[in-house]
Amino acid sequence: NPQILLDNRPQGEATVDNFRLTEADTPALAPGQVLVRHHYLSLDPYMRGRMNDSKSYAAPQPLGQVMQGGTVGVVEESRHPRFQPGDSVVGMGGWQTYSVVDGDAPGMLRKVDTAHVPLSYYLGAVGMPGVTAWYGLDQIIAPKEGDTLVVSAATGAVGSAFAALARARKCRVVGIAGGPEKCAYAVKELGFDHCIDYRAHPDVKSMAGALKAACPDGIDGYFENVGGYILDAVLLRMNAFGRIALCGMIAGYDGQPLPMANPALILINRLKVQGFIVSEHMGMWPKALAELSDLVQLGKLRPRESVAQGLAAAPEAFLGMLKGKNFGKQLVKLV
Ligand code: NDP
Repeated sequence: NPQILLDNRPQGEATVDNFRLTEADTPALAPGQVLVRHHYLSLDPYMRGRMNDSKSYAAPQPLGQVMQGGTVGVVEESRHPRFQPGDSVVGMGGWQTYSVVDGDAPGMLRKVDTAHVPLSYYLGAVGMPGVTAWYGLDQIIAPKEGDTLVVSAATGAVGSAFAALARARKCRVVGIAGGPEKCAYAVKELGFDHCIDYRAHPDVKSMAGALKAACPDGIDGYFENVGGYILDAVLLRMNAFGRIALCGMIAGYDGQPLPMANPALILINRLKVQGFIVSEHMGMWPKALAELSDLVQLGKLRPRESVAQGLAAAPEAFLGMLKGKNFGKQLVKLV
C-alpha cells in the first residue's frame, strides 16, 4: 500500500522534502472494519496548517504518519454490515492507495450516490469545501436578495460553490482571483457578475478602486479566503452592518504576517466579522449537501477540477495549490 508520510515540519515555506513516499502492508480486517481502495485524494489548504506544530483548532499532523485527508473510493472488502464491496464511499483515508476504516467511527466513512453526482465531487462541490461555502454564506453572511457579495479565491473549490449558492439567493456576486484566465472563467462559467484579478491590483489603493468599480453600491457580505491587503481593500468598501465570514487566510499559511491596516473600519461600519470551522457544524452538513447536490444536478454548479496523476504527484500538487497553480478543486487521481 503506497503511502505519503509527513517526514519533517516546514521551516517557513513548505517543500516537497517535508514529505516521504513509502510502502506498507494493509492489515487484515477486524470485525466492523472496511477496506477502501481510494480513487481520488483531496488536497486542501488546511493541511498546510496541520503540518506545523503550533497551537490551532486542529491537532497537528503527527510526524512519520500518513498525511491525513479526505478521500473517495470503492469498498473492496467489508466486515461491516452497512458496507458492501463495490459501494462508493467518501472518507478520511489519507494520502495512500488503500485505507482500513472502522465503519462506525463518526464522520469517517459515508456511502455516496454516484448515479447523479460524479464520485470526485464529494471531495469538492458536494463535500467539505461546498459545505464551507454554504455555512459562511447562510449562517454568517445571511444575505438578502439583491445584496452585493464578494469572495476571494473565487475560482477554487470553496469560491466556485459560493458563487452558485449566492446566485440561488439572487445576490450580486463579485469574485477576486489570480490572473485573467481565472477571472474570465469565473464570469463565463461560474456565474460571477464580475471578477477582479488581484495580480493586476497588487496594493490596497488599486484593489479598493477595482472594488468600487465592481460594487458601486458597496459590499454587504464578504467571504474571506485570503487575508492581507485584499481584506484591507474590502474593508474600505463594506457597507454599514455588513458581514464578513472569515473562512481562510491563505496568504499567511507559510507564516507570513498579515497585519490589518485599519481595524477601526469594523467599528465605524458596525460590521460582523466571524471566523468558523466547517467541521464543527456537522449538524448543518446534510442540509447543505442536499442543496449543493441539487445545484450540481440542475447544472447550476459545474465545478472545475485540477487532477494530478498518481500518489507520488501529491506533494507537488499540494504545494502548487497553495500558490494558485490549481484551477478549481485540487485532486489526486489514483485509479
Ligand atoms: P482553492 O481551491 O481556492 O485553492 C487555494 C487558492 O488560494 C489558490 O488557487 C489561489 O487562487 C488562492 N491563493 C493562494 N495564495 C494566495 C494569495 N497570497 N493571495 C490570494 N489568493 C491566494 O482552495 P479551497 O477552495 O479548498 O479553500 C479556499 C479557502 O477556504 C482557503 O483559505 C482554505 O483554508 C479555506 N477553508 C476553510 C475552511 C473552514 O472550515 N474555515 C474549510 C475549507 C477551506 P488564485 O490563483 O485565485 O490566487
